[in-house]
Amino acid sequence: MAASEQRYGQMRGGKEPPEPLTQEDIVRQLDAAILEHLDWMLRWNRSAVCKVQPAGDITSEHAHFLCGFGNWYDLHQHDPLVAQPAFEALALAHRDLHRNAAWLAARAWKDAKIPVEEYDVLVEKVTRFTDLARKLLKAFQKVASDLDPLTGAHTRQTMTRELMRERERSLRSGKPCMVAMGDLDHFKKVNDTYGHQAGDMVLRLVAAAFLEALRPYDRLYRYGGEEFLFCLPDVSAEAARQALERLRRRIEEMQVPIGGGRTIHVTCSFGIAALSGDSSVKTAMQRADAALYAAKEAGRNRVTIWTPEIG
Ligand code: GH3
Ligand code: MG
Ligand code: MG
Repeated sequence: MAASEQRYGQMRGGKEPPEPLTQEDIVRQLDAAILEHLDWMLRWNRSAVCKVQPAGDITSEHAHFLCGFGNWYDLHQHDPLVAQPAFEALALAHRDLHRNAAWLAARAWKDAKIPVEEYDVLVEKVTRFTDLARKLLKAFQKVASDLDPLTGAHTRQTMTRELMRERERSLRSGKPCMVAMGDLDHFKKVNDTYGHQAGDMVLRLVAAAFLEALRPYDRLYRYGGEEFLFCLPDVSAEAARQALERLRRRIEEMQVPIGGGRTIHVTCSFGIAALSGDSSVKTAMQRADAALYAAKEAGRNRVTIWTPEIG
């Protein structure tokens, strides 16, 4: 980043770090960015064709910070969903197009005519930006359609197919793979006592804690209302138990804000079963569910591994 931009960023700085983005936020933003730049291009053309003095947001050397997308990117560029090469390429294309447009707008305003080749370069830059934005938008739309909007966990839509694939991978590689069912304890009481909104907040924060603790190749699915299914490749039952035990403690210690400065505590029970050669995906899920039931029966807020005695 150039020194002048750093200074500009600092000038605008001092803000609280923004809330983490969801896939839906990004879809909305990319959609808006495409529309915004179509409108911006029309304004640019109007100024150049009709010899109307171009607006400051077109000619400023910081024009790429002054539009909605530039402002948003500046604020969210370190978000885990945004800090990736595809977004960096988009941001570069964006800066490039605004720089070129600012320079050319100033010339179009002053000079009688600008060479067609120079205008074509600008059109190319705009096309590159909108093409990249459309590609990213498509990719995020695809992911967003498979995510539960409340918790950010995957939906059940693709779960069985993905579990079958993991089972086959585990059989081929000889490395174990575990599935685990997690279910919030006495969650109905949370809703009944503090309201549905407080219940939603609990679900959101518990799922965020799950997602944060998982490794990149683990998967979390929202299986039902307050039930989650974990797919944990390359771990033994005991390693999975230890990982979920850490998660269980983390949930137990979590303070969930429910408004008015009040916080509540919740707990979660887990059941683990192997996704292995002697069991189909369906059987493994039934076993994890049976182990979860055993954890509930034994007093809740605990992690249980399926054994044949559980049934
Ligand atoms: P247990 O410890 O045996 O699991 O008891 P429980 O109360 O958690 O289980 P139960 O199945 O009786 O209740 C689940 C509750 O979860 C009932 C339902 O209202 C609530 N629930 C399901 N989905 C949502 C949701 O999206 N938001 C909120 N706030 N509540 C939900
Ligand atoms: Mg429950
Ligand atoms: Mg339940």
